[in-house]
Parts: sequence; C-alpha cells; structure tokens
Amino acid sequence: IQNIQDVRSLIRFIPDFPQKGILFQDIFPVFQNPKAVEFLINHIVDHITSTIKEKIDVVVGLESRGFLFAPIVALKLNSAFAPVRKEGKLPGNTINAEYKKEYGVDTFEMQEDAIKQNQNIIIIDDLIATGGTADAAGRLVKKLGGKVLEYIFVIELTELEGCKKLDAPVFSIFK
Ligand code: 5GP
Repeated sequence: IQNIQDVRSLIRFIPDFPQKGILFQDIFPVFQNPKAVEFLINHIVDHITSTIKEKIDVVVGLESRGFLFAPIVALKLNSAFAPVRKEGKLPGNTINAEYKKEYGVDTFEMQEDAIKQNQNIIIIDDLIATGGTADAAGRLVKKLGGKVLEYIFVIELTELEGCKKLDAPVFSIFK
C-alpha cells in the first residue's frame, strides 16, 4: 500500500445488495489488509491534525461501520469515543433523533453523558449517501451541547448531495 488510491482499489462493488438495484460499496476487503487500514486511519488523523486547531474532545462513530474507524481515530487523537446507535441498543439514559430511511423512519440514540456542554466533536461514518443518517447524528450531538467541527466519511456518493443536509464542513476521502 503506497498511496490512498491503493486503499481505494480494495473497496468492492456488490450489485443488488441489500436489495435489487443497489450497488453496495463493500469496505471490508480493506480490513483484510492491515497496512491498508493503517494507511486509511493515518490519512484521516493527518487530515484532522493538519486542518483543525481545536482539541477534539469526542470522536462520534455511527452504527455500525462508523465503529470500525471512530475508536481508532479517537485513540490516535487522545480523544474520547462515543457511539451513536439504533434505538433500544444503548443502556441507561439516552436521547434520540429520528431520520428518514428509504422506507419509513429510524431512530438513533446517544447516551446522555457521552458529550458535555461546548465539547468539540467529530462525526465519522463509512459512507454518506442522502446525508440523513449523519444529519441525525449531528442533531444528537447538538442536543447534548456539543459542537460538530467536521463530518468525516470514507466514501461520499456525491450525486446525492448529502453534504447539503449537514451544517458543518465535510471531509470525504473517496468521492
Ligand atoms: P444516508 O443516510 O446518507 O442516505 O446513508 C448512509 C448510511 O447508509 C451509512 O450509515 C452507510 O453505512 C450506509 N450505506 C448506504 N449505502 C452504502 C454502501 O453502498 N456501502 C456502505 N458501506 N454503506 C452504505
């Protein structure tokens, strides 16, 4: 693995998953290659440290593939990690936000004490499509008093213009 394009070449396209007509971008082949994972994580961390001056307090990862990246990035930044999960999965006191899926609505939750007033937050997921998922996560962070400094995605489906839904800068590695 010499460069970020070598990482990109490992992403696999699976037709008709999870349903007919959808071309799913599968990131798991990247995880078969630890050097590729290391390169990708360092790419994200270098971007953050070179462009954001503020100390990142919490890196938020979105269920479930956001969990593959956010905790490692958090560890490298010496920041906390906090999960956003689907309704009913997190114990204790939680807050929630709804978002539109292709069919119907879904609910995301965060633990109430995951973020404190005025903390600096980065939100990470594997892919942005319509932006509904990331937007719901952003609303949860704001409800808890956090400030979203940036949304980070490994893949952005640019034609869906999901970034327009988000009210903080977006960094996506593969467009
Ligand atoms: P959005 O809410 O932006 O429309 O959808 C983004 C969510 O759907 C992300 O959490 C992402 O994991 C998932 N997703 C949708 N399509 C794909 C895909 O082709 N590949 C991967 N890895 N995730 C996808």
